[in-house]
Amino acid sequence: MPGRRAFSRLLLAGSGLAALSACSPGVARPTPSAAAATPSATASVTADPSPASPASQSADPASACPAATETPTTAPPAPAAAPPRHSLTDPASPWVVVNKHRPLAPAGYVPADLVAPRVRLATSGEAALLNSTTTAAAEKMFAAAAAAGVVITLASGYRSFNTQIATYNRWVNAEGQAAADTASARPGYSEHQTGWSFDIGDGSGRDSFTPAFANQPAAVWVKANAHLFGFVVRYPYMFHDITGYYYEPWHLRYVGVDAAGEMNARGIATLEEYFGLEAAPGYL
Ligand SMILES: [Zn+2]
Repeated sequence: MPGRRAFSRLLLAGSGLAALSACSPGVARPTPSAAAATPSATASVTADPSPASPASQSADPASACPAATETPTTAPPAPAAAPPRHSLTDPASPWVVVNKHRPLAPAGYVPADLVAPRVRLATSGEAALLNSTTTAAAEKMFAAAAAAGVVITLASGYRSFNTQIATYNRWVNAEGQAAADTASARPGYSEHQTGWSFDIGDGSGRDSFTPAFANQPAAVWVKANAHLFGFVVRYPYMFHDITGYYYEPWHLRYVGVDAAGEMNARGIATLEEYFGLEAAPGYL
């Protein structure tokens, strides 16, 4: 799309070195927050040719990275246009990265601004809450999807530390700890506890929380459009060696339109790669 290309060029001009380094695994983005992180993203992005999933998705980050000559090295940086920088560790930051190597700190964190989004719900109680920024973005996205004829429901939003204990223990009791660790975050390690994440359904309940959900209109729509509202599909197909989770086409994470747009434009699939963080395939 011409619009996307133009957007990509705009980002290039605006973020300069940061944009370039984002295409170079192992090189930390030159931001104050990323500088504190370990610049050791050595994980491979090679797709595992497992036939387990019915979805077909070509993960091809390389093709989205422009040639170096396309980078306008002579253009002066424009501070006013640069995207804002946020903490990668503060749970109240839209850029906090929570994974199997990076638990929430504090473990019992509770967002101070939980609110109930005015969207179609497929849940209730605390799971129908999100933090205020995510709520505003979700309301816009759900409305845009509805205008396009696509039903999206909020299936699971905020999850407290105590609820995560119960959820995780249910998995352990039913499937054992090894299986539980692939399906459910340990308490203190769930993005849902930050208020920045939520799971979606399509209103019918069909294929909910299964790989087949990727083929439902709601999942297809968010995969194509979520970045316009600041969201990414946090656990993309075949990136479990980096994220620690198999494909979850239903799990969205707010990172803001600048970061989500840049990831989309450059074909960067995971937050770990985008921020130059180490892969987190399992608990330490
Ligand atoms: Zn989720």
